[in-house]
Amino acid sequence: MRRIEVGGEPPSAVTVGAGLLGRVRLPQRHVALIHPADLPPAFVKTARAALSPAVTVSVPPRDGCKTLAVYADVLSRLAAANLPRDGAVVGLGGGAATDLAGFVAATYLRGVAFYALPTTLLGMVDAAVGGKTGVNLPEGKNLVGAFHPPGAVWCDVDTLRTLPPAVFREGAAEAYKHGLIADPSLLPRVLSPEFRPGGTGLEETLADAIAVKAGVVRRDPTEQGERAHLNFGHTLAHALEAHTHHAIPHGEAVAYGMHYAARLSLALGGADLTGHTLAFLRWQRPAPLPNLTFDDLWPYMARDKKADAGGVRFVLLRELGQPYLGRVPEDVLRRQFARWQEEVSGEWGVVSGEG
Ligand SMILES: [Zn+2]
Repeated sequence: MRRIEVGGEPPSAVTVGAGLLGRVRLPQRHVALIHPADLPPAFVKTARAALSPAVTVSVPPRDGCKTLAVYADVLSRLAAANLPRDGAVVGLGGGAATDLAGFVAATYLRGVAFYALPTTLLGMVDAAVGGKTGVNLPEGKNLVGAFHPPGAVWCDVDTLRTLPPAVFREGAAEAYKHGLIADPSLLPRVLSPEFRPGGTGLEETLADAIAVKAGVVRRDPTEQGERAHLNFGHTLAHALEAHTHHAIPHGEAVAYGMHYAARLSLALGGADLTGHTLAFLRWQRPAPLPNLTFDDLWPYMARDKKADAGGVRFVLLRELGQPYLGRVPEDVLRRQFARWQEEVSGEWGVVSGEG
């Protein structure tokens, strides 16, 4: 078991280990438990036995729960159950469920305590740490929300055993990203055969990947500077997601985006890290991209990060573990897009014995 301090006021921590779900104890007597409807029933049963919630709310799976309608419905359920000001909201599930639960906690009775029990790799490495909570609007993702850091996060690695292998590999993109921007020792460990549910390398690697984000959030809790580095690979990723109406899962879009950002970093005089980003793509084996042109994605990239005459703001790497914010001119973006597309088009192939 590993404990990672996130800091904040009051200070919070992330605990990573096996069998945590049944051992969670909270200081609050009145608890609301929020979970997606498709979560394995055993997880809900175990968490309910540990927390004795006054109210349990099942919400639509994945981003289906991040709507104003579901948000309003959950608030009503809490009010009907008379959850008091000194109560707590617990989010159990993937990143969408913990984002919604956090936003409910941030706003119900002007704010109650919030705890997260993420059950996906993406939720553990990214969503549950950092205090960003919110829901989507028809006009775009995460347009409504609040900073409301959880009082504590418990990452029970046993819950990852039920994830389909492709979903586990998708979530690994953010852990690999933390390796590229801050802790290069993570790179071979994420690609190792022991980084898998039940593998011997899982707990330590996961904890070290979470520690990277916890450190950045501790130093820059409200995203004034350094925290932007966590967006490495995300400018192209957001463009791919928007253009395909989210047909591409986030972690796969990030894997494609990291390779593009590595190409741009090299073009602007940084070290050649494209071997690392290609190695991750070969390991992850994302779904093949649809036919795309630079001009399909350009409007989203120009909007995603403030673009001006000097180009689009991108998180780039000077070297492994040395990120910086740079401006990339449109002609460089265009030329490197062609190189990138050549390298990422086609099938990634399937490694036998796994899938
Ligand atoms: Zn991300």
